[in-house]
Amino acid sequence: MIGVSILGSTGSIGKSTLDVLARHPDRYRVVAMSANSDVEGMRRQCLAHRPSLVAMADHASAEALADLLAAEAPEITVVSGVEGLKAVATHEAAGQVMAAIVGAAGLVPVLAAVEAGKRILLANKEALVVAGGLFMDAVRRHGVTVLPIDSEHNAVFQCMPEGYEQGLDGKGVRRILLTASGGPFRTTPVEELASVTPEQACAHPNWDMGRKISVDSATMMNKGLEVIEAHWLFGAAPERIQVVIHPQSVIHSMVEYVDGSVLAQLGNPDMRTPIAHALAWPERIDSGVASLDLFDVARLDFEKPDLKRFPCLGLAFRAIEEGGSMPAILNAANEVAVAAFLDGRLGFGDIPRVIEQTMDSLRGQGADSLEILLQADALARKTAERLLAARVT
Ligand code: NAD
Ligand code: MG
Repeated sequence: MIGVSILGSTGSIGKSTLDVLARHPDRYRVVAMSANSDVEGMRRQCLAHRPSLVAMADHASAEALADLLAAEAPEITVVSGVEGLKAVATHEAAGQVMAAIVGAAGLVPVLAAVEAGKRILLANKEALVVAGGLFMDAVRRHGVTVLPIDSEHNAVFQCMPEGYEQGLDGKGVRRILLTASGGPFRTTPVEELASVTPEQACAHPNWDMGRKISVDSATMMNKGLEVIEAHWLFGAAPERIQVVIHPQSVIHSMVEYVDGSVLAQLGNPDMRTPIAHALAWPERIDSGVASLDLFDVARLDFEKPDLKRFPCLGLAFRAIEEGGSMPAILNAANEVAVAAFLDGRLGFGDIPRVIEQTMDSLRGQGADSLEILLQADALARKTAERLLAARVT
């Protein structure tokens, strides 16, 4: 029996994880879960999955949840704040931790899980964008296994040769081909992008996801963050990572070898496949995902990404090339800009402008300590908020 902790259980990835786990009650037990402030969602999950510990990031939400559970499930302990999230991440009965908090808020809890020696199922790409170097050092120091949940990175992982961690050259890997759907605005005339609404941006053609990553997919910042994620996970220089637009989202990514072979992983666009893969690796378990019907798919298309249409992709390449704390700055400015867009305070077309201006006005520093990176994150948030305020008034 494998104990699983889920950071971000009430989100899109969290729910898909619980769906897969519920198919294998003989193999997995949910021991701990966390959420931000969705008390009712967490209450329902507690009653269905009976973990021993739950954390709410927000203190008032934790109190409200504890009141409800006192009558219904008094054996469940409720904690709160960053310390609570860390307790979920390091629960002694957990062998595996699903890191599915959205944003840089997930970094400190997932680092705690690494330091506690847990197997990490990593959905929270922002953690790697902010602190990829530190994260991978900690992974090596503690000898933990990281299994990527992001569908592209999970696909790359499945196509990589054994021992790729020792260097891609020695294993004959030439390039990573990272596929991207192009999001809902792949063919929208550029002049119409300025006026698109949050609802349009969140209506992804192939994937059903949380709102922040849905907007990131629409700007293609998601692919930019994923280039940085792939750089750290697979030790690949940015110029070895080619983004390929593939509107059907059936090929989840590819690895090209020096002999010209290109290995791909395919499947229906359903996150339960990478989740089940990572939960069971190196074995395989049923995920509940239907067989891929290639006759139904019928064709696979590919296009070059257009950096004029998707300036966020270029900003992400710039951040990784500048290195140090610049990816943390990019990520923080993006989180602020996307939240403002979802709140109706910023136009869609202004998202890349706020990010670029934040990057221009701050200098990247070294990325040698968590403190420096968290300071860069906080300063970039303040700067982006200031730029936003200046824009609206
Ligand atoms: P979501 O918004 O649906 O869920 C986020 C979860 O994190 C929720 O449980 C929420 O309560 C929790 N949370 C939010 N802010 C928090 C905070 N400040 N402190 C603690 N907890 C907080 O997001 P999602 O779509 O499930 O995405 C989660 C992560 O997985 C993201 O990093 C995303 O990029 C990545 N990811 C998601 C998908 C997908 O299909 N949804 C695919 C690939 C990668
Ligand atoms: Mg992805």
